[in-house]
Amino acid sequence: MITSLSGIAASNGIAFAKAFRLENPKLDVEKTTVEDTEKEISRLDAALAKSVAELEVIQQRTREQISDKEAAIFGAHLLVLSDPELIGPVKEKITNDKQNAESALKETADGFVAMFEAMDNEYMKERAADIRDVTKRVLAHLLGVSIQNPSMISEEVIIIAEDLTPSDTVQLNPQFVQGFVTEIGGRTSHSAILARTLEIPAVVGAKSLMATIQNGVSVIVDGLDGQVLIDPDEATIAEYQTKKAQYEEQKAEWAKLKNEATVTADGQAVEIGANIGTPKDTTGVLENGGEAIGLYRTEFLYMGRDEFPTEEQQYEAYAAVLKAMEGKPTVVRTLDIGGDKELSYLDLPKELNPFLGLRAIRLCLEMPDMFRTQLRALLRASVHGNLKIMFPMIATLEEFREAKALLLEEKAKLLEEGIEVSDSIEVGIMVEIPSTAVMADAFAKEVDFFSIGTNDLIQYTMAADRMNEQVSYLYQPFNPAILRLVKMVIDASHREGKWTGMCGEMAGDEIAIPILLGLGLDEFSMSASSILKARAQISKLSKAEMASHTERILALGTSDEVEAYVKSIVS
Ligand code: PEP
Ligand code: MG
Repeated sequence: MITSLSGIAASNGIAFAKAFRLENPKLDVEKTTVEDTEKEISRLDAALAKSVAELEVIQQRTREQISDKEAAIFGAHLLVLSDPELIGPVKEKITNDKQNAESALKETADGFVAMFEAMDNEYMKERAADIRDVTKRVLAHLLGVSIQNPSMISEEVIIIAEDLTPSDTVQLNPQFVQGFVTEIGGRTSHSAILARTLEIPAVVGAKSLMATIQNGVSVIVDGLDGQVLIDPDEATIAEYQTKKAQYEEQKAEWAKLKNEATVTADGQAVEIGANIGTPKDTTGVLENGGEAIGLYRTEFLYMGRDEFPTEEQQYEAYAAVLKAMEGKPTVVRTLDIGGDKELSYLDLPKELNPFLGLRAIRLCLEMPDMFRTQLRALLRASVHGNLKIMFPMIATLEEFREAKALLLEEKAKLLEEGIEVSDSIEVGIMVEIPSTAVMADAFAKEVDFFSIGTNDLIQYTMAADRMNEQVSYLYQPFNPAILRLVKMVIDASHREGKWTGMCGEMAGDEIAIPILLGLGLDEFSMSASSILKARAQISKLSKAEMASHTERILALGTSDEVEAYVKSIVS
């Protein structure tokens, strides 16, 4: 029997709870002949009744936990279930053709779906999607297979899933979800990043997970060392309880630095900021002593809804973040959609290589009206704090110039309308494409700051998908190729009197921190839960001493050599 699995440590902490498998059920329907048609009709009625009861609960929870609007989706599903035009023909097939309920339902529903989908009418196409969803639910009941909905979870569990999309993850209620483990994904996949923001222990990339862990089995997730313990015995439970207590103790020690500045042992100040996804996350930033927000991923405002957020809704979110930060630097990144981040209501053509496709700033420049709305909302919110605007995935100077021109146009329009806009907004870019790192000297003349997005910079430099655990051995933050690019960017910015931050996950890594200090990085932006640990580490390091190692580190040949070198100088 397998008692443990190894994966990638994605979010610190240790959690104990029962496994909850989140998966798409297999619904294989066979067509058979039934003798007792009345019994078949009652089976159908029972499955319909169970589906109605379930949908009513989901609708109610969604209304309470998310919004009325999202809850309306389930209202539409309930309507389908009571529609005689759908249910009538199903019952006829059972009675007249002696067909089993599953195949009668599937055939009838497929017919409606095909008919609605063929219509050139958005409303009808949505009805097709509703019928497909509802049919799945009723079929699951007929086949005795369970169907899950993450927002329905109401007891303490550890989620076990093949993969979690960002929108699955935002639906998880941290009150009940104690931790999660996925079979796919790396440390920088967005579900892992969200886990760190929510401070839920997580392990990703655990091979054979779905084949190994069954529902309800007791599980320990060790997000510190990337281990998953299955059905642990008492000795193992005791061992992990001790480990958890030690971790809590260490956290209490770090917490003493909450109101301190981040200063190295030789008296040099650097800034530690946080990466956030929603205005609510500012609470965690302040509780963890964040000095800034180094990255606000605004795309989460666009997710979990069925249309674009309005200018007003965006203004409110941005203003809320700026007000909460009370004048501390707040870097807001414009919409970075694409790659693994999709919007259900934005029907973009499927691409062969979405990570190399129409995403982030490319999409915003392609859809200027959508982009201008965001820029206006940001400019209006700027009066509430210390706003810095940052464009993602910039590959060329032209892209930066075009994006900045749109920003200036919107600013001019607002001023003309008599709307106040701050006149000290810095405008910078993320450096996450190698071409931009190489051209940093040219960019440095035009931008106000850089923020190095190593999550993507590493995947594009090493040509290794950040989501793909099969090539995770190539995902090497300490490869000298990456470090040399980072140095080029920091040096270029300093030559022009500008500053450089890093908002990729590397900024919070304990091996990376000494190197980055030595390279002269000005701002480290990380998950809020990593801030205090990083501050404690930096307070023990001398910046001058770390800088004296830079040349030797950058001349090393491999990532492993770099890691071993850093360990030898800091321990
Ligand atoms: C990055 O690429 O490093 C980054 C911070 O952006 P994201 O993780 O949202 O792609
Ligand atoms: Mg990125």
